[in-house]
Amino acid sequence: MASAPAPDADKLVDRHGRAIRYLRISVTDRCDLRCRYCMAETMTFLPRSALLSLEEIALIAERFVARGVRKIRLTGGEPLVRRDMIELAWRLGRQIGAGLDELTLTTNATRLAAHAEELFAAGMRRINVSLDSRDPANFRYITRHGDLTRVLEGIAAAKATGLKIKINMVALKGLNEHEIAPMLAWAADEGHDLTLIETMPLGRIDEDRADRFLPLPRVLADLRDRFDLVSDDHQSGGPARYWRLAGTGTRLGLISPLTGNFCATCNRVRLSTDGKLHMCLGHEDSVDLREAIRSGGLAEVDARISEALDLKPAAHDFRIAAGTAPAVSRHMSVTGG
Ligand code: SAM
Ligand code: SF4
Repeated sequence: MASAPAPDADKLVDRHGRAIRYLRISVTDRCDLRCRYCMAETMTFLPRSALLSLEEIALIAERFVARGVRKIRLTGGEPLVRRDMIELAWRLGRQIGAGLDELTLTTNATRLAAHAEELFAAGMRRINVSLDSRDPANFRYITRHGDLTRVLEGIAAAKATGLKIKINMVALKGLNEHEIAPMLAWAADEGHDLTLIETMPLGRIDEDRADRFLPLPRVLADLRDRFDLVSDDHQSGGPARYWRLAGTGTRLGLISPLTGNFCATCNRVRLSTDGKLHMCLGHEDSVDLREAIRSGGLAEVDARISEALDLKPAAHDFRIAAGTAPAVSRHMSVTGG
């Protein structure tokens, strides 16, 4: 059942006048892969006791919907490694049409073949799948042990179910830059969209991110030489800038937080695995909604969400240079990518 709608005074507008319409939830910080730009090989994950329960996630998410959030993305870590993830999708799917416009997912697709039908049945229609390489050996290298076949099977199963797929590819200098143009051609053949992402300085990894940083303006210039790309004014409310591949239904998105941020139109906040509400991916500030729901229930959650609006900064300040520390200590997997 939908939560009672909040009065207008409770709508989520930050001190810079940006309305919050999009909530990303990291349902687990754990993952079955170890992508080199995302995680260190040896990671310490949160103890299970630190995680929000399914019920807590659902109650908090429902408060956000009551206060004007229209889109929820379940992410992680790898969301499909959490056992009750499908149950959560069913629960949140009930909000679609009752305040929520869209429930979606970001996944590495290793377990997608087994779950695609249920995700569709729960109300999902579009998902993001991370795929940084279509070369089995390179995929294994980037993910440290991933099996490309399983991922491609997962993508095929999702497509067969009717889910629209956007491929996320982190552009990595010297690692997959030669695969970007073929990835776009493949995505167009398959009817998928493709979004390219600049590597972001989030959490310590085993490499220097500066060594792999590939500025997307350079990638775009190269793609425009090879493909007929038409600028597209599509707005996802996200940080991507879009192009259309002429003669196809494929949209190319560029997320370039290092070479050109889109903070002025940011409409999103993130709920971490352990219940911290982060107003910006690139800042350490947060409010603790796990403590709030456990100590004071939903009234306390509402009060903390209102407090958090004042914490949303005007912009992040990502920089990547040799030897510099990450902008924040959290990995993307904790905050929810
Ligand atoms: N495990 C799922 C997956 O890989 O799709 C969901 C979580 S993952 C953190 C979400 C997205 O963040 C993926 O597309 C991944 O490539 C991206 N990502 C992770 N770490 C990143 C970083 N440091 N910079 C840029 N993108 C990153
Ligand atoms: Fe796991 Fe996704 Fe991070 Fe890769 S990018 S290690 S799949 S959370």
